[in-house]
Amino acid sequence: MKRLFFVISAAVLLSLSFSGCGSIRGDREAPYVVMVSLDAFRWDFDSIFGTPVLDDMAKNGVMAERLIPSFPTKTFPNHYSIATGLYPDHHGLVNNSFYAPDLDLVYRIGDRKMVENGAFYGGEPVWNTARKAGLKTASFYWVGSEAPIQGMQPDRWRSYDDEVPFGDRVDTVIKWLSLPQRQRPHLITLYFEEPDAVGHQYGPLSSETGSMVRSLDSLIGVLRHGIDKLPHADKINLIVLSDHGLGEIDAARYNYIFDTLPERLVERIYGGTPVWAVEPSEGMTDSVLYYLNLQHKIKAYRRDELPAHLNYGTHHRIPEVVLIADPGWIAGVRPSPSGYNRGDHGYDWRWKDMHSIFYAEGPAFKKEFKVDTLFNIDVYNVITRVLGITPAPNDGNNLRISPLFREY
Ligand code: AMP
Ligand code: ZN
Ligand code: ZN
Repeated sequence: MKRLFFVISAAVLLSLSFSGCGSIRGDREAPYVVMVSLDAFRWDFDSIFGTPVLDDMAKNGVMAERLIPSFPTKTFPNHYSIATGLYPDHHGLVNNSFYAPDLDLVYRIGDRKMVENGAFYGGEPVWNTARKAGLKTASFYWVGSEAPIQGMQPDRWRSYDDEVPFGDRVDTVIKWLSLPQRQRPHLITLYFEEPDAVGHQYGPLSSETGSMVRSLDSLIGVLRHGIDKLPHADKINLIVLSDHGLGEIDAARYNYIFDTLPERLVERIYGGTPVWAVEPSEGMTDSVLYYLNLQHKIKAYRRDELPAHLNYGTHHRIPEVVLIADPGWIAGVRPSPSGYNRGDHGYDWRWKDMHSIFYAEGPAFKKEFKVDTLFNIDVYNVITRVLGITPAPNDGNNLRISPLFREY
């Protein structure tokens, strides 16, 4: 009996030491991952504007010529696809703004109550996977980190505030990485809302976007320098990526949806250019499709007839009809095209300008190794593999990520 008690307590102690402290695996320190997102950093900004720091990362690690975003190529669905490895069709954040019939609520990215409501977020974000494996996690912003999902959040997280200077965000991440080992997070996410904001206002090829791209490149340099100075720098893996690209927009390429579509045929319409979710009035689906498709440069689909490459249309938050503007075109719900952006995204991911970036360096990754294409649903598996933890079921493909690793 005494012996049995000893065996049980030894087993409990052992399991606590593996799951409780978050940084010790036996006597080996678990690896670290810092994942940074530069919103709307397009795949070819490196060659257009020059990015010496990212070029150096590529030399010292791996890069993908392009990271393919998920449809719709908007910020919220894509950050959450990166976090979960699931298409928006499977994780439920089906656009930046949508109606959720399951909750009878409208999700909008500017509505804090909705952003912080865990009921919107399906799947398992990678910080939950890490926490379940006993690792500490932290987030200086990421879509989903501000809501309890599966009843969990990162150990440390911040409410999104675009006024926090970028340098302060980097300093905080370095502080987190400098914490005593028992408190130190093994997974950190960091988000910057540029060059998206400048790119929308001035266009992807503007000099304003160029200066922002170059200053973000230096900012990554500051982060790398901070990491290099840490005593455990050789255990830290850094990933720099973006959620989608940015296309050139001209207000003259404007379609007013209700030019051809009688308003009475529509029950609800949500979204924003270039993707709208249309719920037709009772029995009016065929008519709505007919009227919308009279217009040039937009296409309306019955949700079960959307092109297969979009992986979109099965989630119950996607209504009967989905309308998508052609590359570079605007689809609006106001008669005049006033106040439109010079740059935009959200389009079919086959438009090259929607493609984003992926760089990774650290002990897990090869050096000076380039692949042509990765999909952003693959990133979840990259992180779980680096951390050595078991991934939740997801849409990624391990064959695509295997070549990136030193050992595979
Ligand atoms: P969009 O370009 O419309 O897809 O969305 C980009 C915007 O999302 C950025 O300008 C950010 O201000 C905003 N954003 C990013 N993360 C968050 C967040 N966690 N909470 C609220 N807004 C966010
Ligand atoms: Zn974005
Ligand atoms: Zn944007």
